[in-house]
Amino acid sequence: MSDRVTTPIAQRLARPELLDMTPYQSARRIGGTGDIWLNANESPFSDSLPAYNRYPEFQPTELINNYARYAKVNLDQLLASRGADEAIELLIRTFCVPGQDSITICTPTYGMYAISAATCNVAVNTVPLTAEWQLDSQLISKLNGSKLLFICNPNNPTGSTLTPHQIEPIVRALEDECIVVVDEAYIEFSPELTMASLIEKYDNLVILRTLSKAFALAGLRCGFMLANRTIIDLAKKVIAPYPIAAPVGEIASQSLTINGVMKMTCRVAQLNKLAAQFSNAVSKLSGVKAVYSSGTNFVLVRFNDDRWFSLLGDAGIVVRNQSRVKTLNNCLRFSIGSSTEMARLISQLTTISIAIK
Ligand code: PMP
Repeated sequence: MSDRVTTPIAQRLARPELLDMTPYQSARRIGGTGDIWLNANESPFSDSLPAYNRYPEFQPTELINNYARYAKVNLDQLLASRGADEAIELLIRTFCVPGQDSITICTPTYGMYAISAATCNVAVNTVPLTAEWQLDSQLISKLNGSKLLFICNPNNPTGSTLTPHQIEPIVRALEDECIVVVDEAYIEFSPELTMASLIEKYDNLVILRTLSKAFALAGLRCGFMLANRTIIDLAKKVIAPYPIAAPVGEIASQSLTINGVMKMTCRVAQLNKLAAQFSNAVSKLSGVKAVYSSGTNFVLVRFNDDRWFSLLGDAGIVVRNQSRVKTLNNCLRFSIGSSTEMARLISQLTTISIAIK
């Protein structure tokens, strides 16, 4: 058999210098047994309880166990990172040779794919979504040899969704040539769309997740990469020696107990209801041109002019202006807040709508 058939795709696409590289052998990674630990230049003193004088585990066991159970993947198919943002950068640094390789993104989409690529001197190939925020039907032929294809589902900032049936044929068609990264940062708001189970089937599929959205832990900075073991092992060569701070691991593990996941599901149901109410209310206002359907905890709205953002700002309501993106002219992105916050927002939008008629 040729190399092409026998070598896993991740190894064929990875930066060649990573293949034979031994990851930094941190004290925790080497491990050991004993009751006197003098191997990591740590302090023997600790002023806090729990004690933080020791380095954390490379990948906290409880965190990985709990997330693997929640996401229904194996322990070796998972990497915890400092937010999904770090996972994006890790993928670029794992697969793309600076000044040589490229990634493909489907715009409008999450801005950090392009920023991370730029900071690594990796080119960005852009294939715009259609007017209905669907994937370009010729996407596969427009990759220009990119090593990574980023698909954000549900998508930020449009809120639009794709079904696994739309994405899977692309993953299959690219099985031999490109890693498809499906960013599922918002998946808990549309759980039926997840493709996590398909990492078993496709060696070129990576899923990104985060605790920042549905799990209400953006301040914690904790995300996950889900993929086959070859990809995870390569990313483990690139990631920092102790990427998950001990308190982060502790709090994140708690949020992923059966009880924590139940709490998250209830909050998601509440937010989804508030999102539907908000969309419904806003669509009735004059001056609103489009309210885009959303599978996330935010709603994108297109207005008739560019005054709405500053008028909301004058009233102390801070939303995200998307007007800088060419196809999102006069669009604002509204995160779904508490019911009190949403009531005030709707009331203020109603006032503006009447005032600027
Ligand atoms: N992906 C998408 C689509 C996002 O919207 C965000 C956060 N805005 C991230 C990834 C980054 O998430 P994290 O907070 O886990 O770094």
